[in-house]
Parts: sequence; structure tokens; C-alpha cells
Amino acid sequence: MSKGLETKQADRSGMARRTFVKGAAATALVMPAMAVMQSARTVPAEEVKETADLEKYRALGGWVEKPDDLQPALEGDVSADVVIVGAGFAGLSAALELAKQGAKVIVLEREFAGFGASGRNAGYLAGALGLEYELFLKDIGNERAKQIVRYYEDAVTFVEEKLKEYSIDCDYNQSGLIRAGVHPSHEEKVREGMRVGAELGLQSEFLDEAQMRARGIPPAFLFGNYVSRGGTLNPGKYVRGLRSAALRAGVNLYENTPVLSYIEGPVIQVKTARGSVSAPALMLATNAYTPQFGLLADKVIPLRLSAIETEPLSAAQLKALGWPRREGIVTAHWTMESHRLTAHNTLLVTTKRLHYPYGSKTPNVPDFDQYRELRIALRDRFPALKDIAVRACWSGYISFANDALPVVGTTGANQNIYYAAGCSGHGVAAQSVVGHMMAQRIRGTQPPLLAALRHETPSTLPEPLRWCFVNGALSGAAAMDDWVNRKVRDAAA
Ligand SMILES: Cc1cc2nc3c(=O)[nH]c(=O)nc-3n(C[C@H](O)[C@H](O)[C@H](O)COP(=O)(O)OP(=O)(O)OC[C@H]3O[C@@H](n4cnc5c(N)ncnc54)[C@H](O)[C@@H]3O)c2cc1C
Repeated sequence: MSKGLETKQADRSGMARRTFVKGAAATALVMPAMAVMQSARTVPAEEVKETADLEKYRALGGWVEKPDDLQPALEGDVSADVVIVGAGFAGLSAALELAKQGAKVIVLEREFAGFGASGRNAGYLAGALGLEYELFLKDIGNERAKQIVRYYEDAVTFVEEKLKEYSIDCDYNQSGLIRAGVHPSHEEKVREGMRVGAELGLQSEFLDEAQMRARGIPPAFLFGNYVSRGGTLNPGKYVRGLRSAALRAGVNLYENTPVLSYIEGPVIQVKTARGSVSAPALMLATNAYTPQFGLLADKVIPLRLSAIETEPLSAAQLKALGWPRREGIVTAHWTMESHRLTAHNTLLVTTKRLHYPYGSKTPNVPDFDQYRELRIALRDRFPALKDIAVRACWSGYISFANDALPVVGTTGANQNIYYAAGCSGHGVAAQSVVGHMMAQRIRGTQPPLLAALRHETPSTLPEPLRWCFVNGALSGAAAMDDWVNRKVRDAAA
């Protein structure tokens, strides 16, 4: 059976059992209509100016652009023990482990390593902090959830060890991370997340306002749930480090090589524009792009999220800011904001708004609405830096399952097609370890934590209901977050 990018998405059975943004479901049908009305509004002059301004700073590839040593595109027919599609954290980590075990590995990457979310994320090397327990706990139960928490927590240690093993310098700051409240109404949410996390084995501590100020955390962040595990890194340097290690290990990487289709069988044939790879095992490490093969089209959806990065702060601005340990901060909004300082003293703000593109497409386009929202978030949380210039903004895709859990498994008549998607925006650590575990699975061992991830992922709605429902729920979440943000502004005025 042939699976191609052009394959119609099939078998979209079943209704989504719940929204992924709890409490926003009621708005799902109303908000698209509002969105249509909004798109007909006159755009204010300052918004037009702001967009023109941000347009100058659009960074197509996020932290990485095309490398100088771009590997050649595939020409002709070749064979391997394993063929991997996608050179992000998952694909490269799998390739490294397979090469270590003596397998002949070929990696096919549409653009260049790190072109996907691996080169565009916020760089939080995070464990279980921020998991949306309410979306999966009831269905999978406490015991399984404990294993999920352990999987995320162990993933951090895994990456820390790999950074040492491959001598990857990616500005890793083992600062710990904080899930912070920006308004008193966030406190219940922060404490509840902490309580459930503790039950499931996640160690963390609550920092009250005095403790936050004592740590020098910027004053917009009132209190928070602090985890000492993990921190922040430069994801561009991390993914490039994996790429170099893979090339050194003898992995055959073909960049600028989109996979067009594959034919299943005991030996799978993967087709590109000017060649093919035959191998007894195929790993689709294509994350948010996977539904375009017709696989998981009813299980995961791509969501677009964006980032803006400022110019470097001056010495005086840094001193005034405080924040000596530079803990990565995420907020307790329905759609979180994330705020961090980079090693080159810029401020990075991401997320706040999510968007689902119709038909699970993943166009590589800028999202100026999201960039403007992130600029507002920057001004809201760092009023003293309200005039700082933005030097880069970019967008990328995560893959989201309705229960926010990873979607990993095998498929095909011969069960020799492996996939790892559904990272739900928590993939820096998790997709690295999942790639590694997949490689072990391909070589015949079954890591217990990988087995623990196997579960029935709830199905998504068919289009156009999916677009209406997802973007409606996201708009509802944004409206609730805006309400809180207005209260914060009113209190500061
Ligand atoms: C703005 C943003 C912020 C984020 N922040 C964080 C964070 O702070 N912490 C965190 O843990 N996670 C974060 N994430 C999520 C994290 O980046 C991802 O979970 C992770 O990078 C996914 O890695 P991956 O290897 O599975 O997929 P990807 O990195 O997306 O790699 C998939 C690769 O497949 C390639 N590909 C697709 N189709 C084809 C084809 N037909 N042929 C050949 N190649 C193909 C793509 O070009 C891509 O390189 C963020 C994501 C975004 C977008």
C-alpha cells in the first residue's frame, strides 16, 4: 500500500471527547463567527505600522538557517537498515543511537536539520512542568500518569547526558523553571497543577511573592511553581550539535530532500523526487507534518506558535531587570506565555496565541497577529523595556493530540513503520528521548517507558468542524487570558 503526501486523510472516525482547552468549549462555535467579523474590521494605523516594523525582523528558520555544509540531496536508489524521515530532535537522536548499534542509517530531510520545531522553539529543557493533567488523567489513571511524568522528567537527564557525550555547547543554563502567576486569579491554577504533579511524582516548590522577589524574578511574575530540574538552552545549537554528531557517527543525511511517498512491505520503499531508499524499517520523525502522509491525520493536529526576540539588553537594562539565575518562566494563562533571557542577553517571548491552519497544513508563513500579541506580552511583563526593539520573529508548528499525550507507535501490515508525534509543545527533552527509545525498539528491545506511552489517542473531528472547534476553543482561551491581562494592566495603571 502506498502512502503519499497527496493521500486523502481517511478514517476520521469518532468525535473528539473533550476540548484541549478546558472551559473554552462553549465558545467554540461562537468565536469563528467573531473571527470572520474581526477580519472585516478596519486595521488601525498603528497596527499597520507595527506589522511593517515586525516584517523587517522575520527570521524564516528561527534559531538556524541553511548550514554552510548543507548535505547533498538524494540522487538514485540506495538501501539501508533503517530510513528516517525528518532531521529534528527525534530523527537525529534515533539516527545516533542506531548508528551506535552498528546499523546503516539514512536520514531524509525536506529542508535542513532543525528546519522544523527543533530549530524554532523557546529552548526550555523541561520535564513534566506544564503538563495538562486534566486532559489525560481521568482516561489513563494515576499509575500510568506516574509513568508519563517519569518519562518527561527522565528526558531532561537524558538530554543533559547527551550534551556531555557529544560535547554539544548550546548555552545550557541549568536554572530550573517556574510556572508563574501574573494575577491573583492564577494562584489556584498554579497550586492545583502543583498538587496533582506532586501526587504523580513531580517534585516542585511554591514560591510566594516574597520568595520570587528574593530570587530577583521580575515583578510582573507574582508567585510560581518552581522545579529545579531542567533550564534553558539554545535549540539551534543543540540541533546543530546533534547533526554534527550524527555525521561524525556515519549517518547518511540527505538534506533538501522531501519524501514524496512510501510503499509498504517487508522492505519499505521511500520515494523522493530523484531517488528512493529501500529499508526494512521506516521511522517517520516528522512530528506536526506527519498527517500530510495520511498517517495520524485523525489523531494529531499541527498548531502554529510564534516567538519574538529582542535586541540584546544593555548592561544597565540587565542590572535593572535583576533575574540573576535567569530561570525560564512560563505563565499560568490558558495559553501560556513564556519569557526567558538568552545567553546573548536578548529577551525571548513565545506562545500566548495558537492557531490551527485549515486541513492540518503547515505553511511556512509569518504570523504577524501573533508577533503583535507577543510584543504586547513583552510590554505587559517588562514595562521598563517597553521600547526595546525586536530583532527577530518566527513561527513554527507543534503537533497536538486531544489528550496532550505523545503519539508513538508502529503501523503497516509488517509493523515496520514507526512514528513519534503529538509532542504538544513539550518536545525539546521528550522528542530527543523518544527518538532514542524508538531506535532501541527498531533494534528489538522494548524500553519500558516507551511501552508506557502506548495508549488509544482520542480522534479529532473531521473538517470543517475541526477548524471551527479548535480555533473557536483557542479564541475562547485567548479571550479569558485577555480578561486577566486587562485586569493586570488596570491594577498597574
Ligand atoms: C515556537 C515554539 C516554541 C516551543 N518551545 C518549546 C520549549 O521551550 N520546550 C519544549 O520542550 N518544546 C518546545 N516546542 C516544541 C518542540 O520544539 C518540538 O516538540 C520538537 O522540536 C519536535 O521535534 P521533532 O524532531 O519531533 O520534530 P521537528 O523538529 O518538527 O522535525 C520534523 C522534521 O521533519 C521534516 N519533514 C517534514 N516533512 C518531511 C518530508 N515530507 N520529507 C522530509 N522531511 C520532512 C521537517 O522539515 C522537520 O525538520 C516549541 C515549538 C515551537 C514551534
